[in-house]
Amino acid sequence: MNRLEPVSFDTSVPGRRGCVLPPLDVAEKAVASLLPGEMLRREPACLPELSEVDVVRHFTRLSQKNFAVDEGFYPLGSCTMKYNPKCNEDAARLPGFALAHPLQGAEFSQGALRLMYELTEMLTEITGMAGVSLQPAAGAHGELTGIMIIRAYHRHRGDEKRTKILIPDTAHGTNPASAALAGYDVVEVASDRRGNVDLDALREAMDDRVAGIMLTNPNTLGLFEETITDVADIVHGKGGLLYYDGANFNAILGKVRPGDMGFDVIHLNLHKSFSTPHGGGGPGSGPVGVGETLLPFLPVPLVRKCGDRYEFDEDRPLSVGKVRSFYGNFGVLVRAYAYILSMGAEGLREVAHNAVLNANYLMALLKERFLLPYDRTCKHEFVLSGKRQHDSGGVSTLDMAKALMDYGFHPPTIYFPLVVEEAMMIEPTETEGKETLDVFAKALCSIADEAEKNPEGVKTAPHSTFVARPDETAAARKPVLRWRREE
Ligand SMILES: *Cc1c(COP(=O)(O)O)cnc(C)c1O
Repeated sequence: MNRLEPVSFDTSVPGRRGCVLPPLDVAEKAVASLLPGEMLRREPACLPELSEVDVVRHFTRLSQKNFAVDEGFYPLGSCTMKYNPKCNEDAARLPGFALAHPLQGAEFSQGALRLMYELTEMLTEITGMAGVSLQPAAGAHGELTGIMIIRAYHRHRGDEKRTKILIPDTAHGTNPASAALAGYDVVEVASDRRGNVDLDALREAMDDRVAGIMLTNPNTLGLFEETITDVADIVHGKGGLLYYDGANFNAILGKVRPGDMGFDVIHLNLHKSFSTPHGGGGPGSGPVGVGETLLPFLPVPLVRKCGDRYEFDEDRPLSVGKVRSFYGNFGVLVRAYAYILSMGAEGLREVAHNAVLNANYLMALLKERFLLPYDRTCKHEFVLSGKRQHDSGGVSTLDMAKALMDYGFHPPTIYFPLVVEEAMMIEPTETEGKETLDVFAKALCSIADEAEKNPEGVKTAPHSTFVARPDETAAARKPVLRWRREE
């Protein structure tokens, strides 16, 4: 094979240039007076030296080694990227939005403020809460903000003894992390055999030292908490508050509202359920909504409407303060606003119908071959177990997830939630057609066949990707994030 080696930064050649910078038009002396001496670079930066096409090819090749939602089915589960219409990208890039500067002041930002105000109103309506802050920059950030609001509420009432937050054993990992970061002790609550919060366990754990409970509904098993109003009664009965993790909202859009279920605080992930693409840690948005009694504690500033003008409301003495610079990730807000308007109320309800229909259809196709520990109607996702395959041929869920890549699919979330052994969590989302779901189910069933006939083949999968089995621990602990010239 005489294929040219892929271009990479390692092909750096001294003196090669991709672009020529204009000559410096600031006197060196002036620079020296503006910047502290120790911050001035004495030696040229050690950068790879490549031509323009080399760099373009390097990044294009990198992008082709990846899997993308625009390329194939991506049934991740829990953190799934849902529908991201391309037209909303155009809306976010409109110069009036994209070039707005946060320091230009309310007077010159009326359009942006109106968008924020109206988005707040829409999210308030969709969630059934009394008010929303758009400030938090991610889901976990929204959780932290929400828990700070709960803490501020109890303290304001002089109730200092509440030091615990209850979290079910199916919860997303960020929930206990956020509660702990806010200074609370985390107490785990078990699930019952149907996958609901175990009410007896909850009654036992709930006392006057519990500040609140964090739940998601549907929970991370993809199941609707059937006894949610009892949960609310038990927690409220002892003076606690209910926090709703609304990261994945597509199953209930336009159908039920956390506010009506009895929740006091909620966050949404606009970068999952409301049109912003996510992954790779890109900008997100985790608005926080609260019920009437918690309104005074929302972060400052809020946007309010006075006549036909919009302004920032900074005068909120009980507020938990500011949780992010300026007003959140504005571009994400534009996409969510465009999404809600273009879908309309009926369109949003249809999202919920199709998300739930797709998940149940796929679950029905797969439950003959794979163990389904909680066999009941699911919402937007469901959790299978690879235990049958693991016990018979020694093929793990990890192996089967890897093998899916050879069929052109992104693997689902695995080994989460923790309550399911060899868990495989699948969320098809509302956008997929029946044909895609059929081919995916067939692929997983072929892998199950293969696991019996040729376990070694599955254990060494994938066989068709650029990287087969990376050392994930080393990748996390010793990441190579910078190019360095070889000595
Ligand atoms: C994604 C997700 C989160 C965290 O959101 P980030 O934006 O990644 O911080 C929290 N809870 C659930 C259920 C999620 O799926």
